Amino acid sequence: MFCPKCKAEYRAEISRCPDCDIALIKSLDSEPPPAPEGPALAWRGNDPVAFSRALAALREHKIQSYQIAEHDNLPYLAAFQPRYGIFVRREDVSRAEKVIREAFAGLVPD
Ligand SMILES: [Zn+2]
Repeated sequence: MFCPKCKAEYRAEISRCPDCDIALIKSLDSEPPPAPEGPALAWRGNDPVAFSRALAALREHKIQSYQIAEHDNLPYLAAFQPRYGIFVRREDVSRAEKVIREAFAGLVPD
């Protein structure tokens, strides 16, 4: 058993670090991975008009975006074979999706 704070190793029957007074863990490697960082995909598609409309909507709402065009090498998108993708900061992704949805609302006949 290991203390995640001071990294000290203890026998298996010990469950708390006496120095730090926190619960021990089985392995120092078993800590949960940190939350994913970096851009998240907010939109993807093949329509250049929709692509620029989505971008304009994000600009209007001052959401920073990273655009991906078809000539960019992007293995993550290749599986879906879209020609365009828009990435935003991870903390913005739900707001970005909403903004894009609203930008398209009423424009596409159902
Ligand atoms: Zn400790």
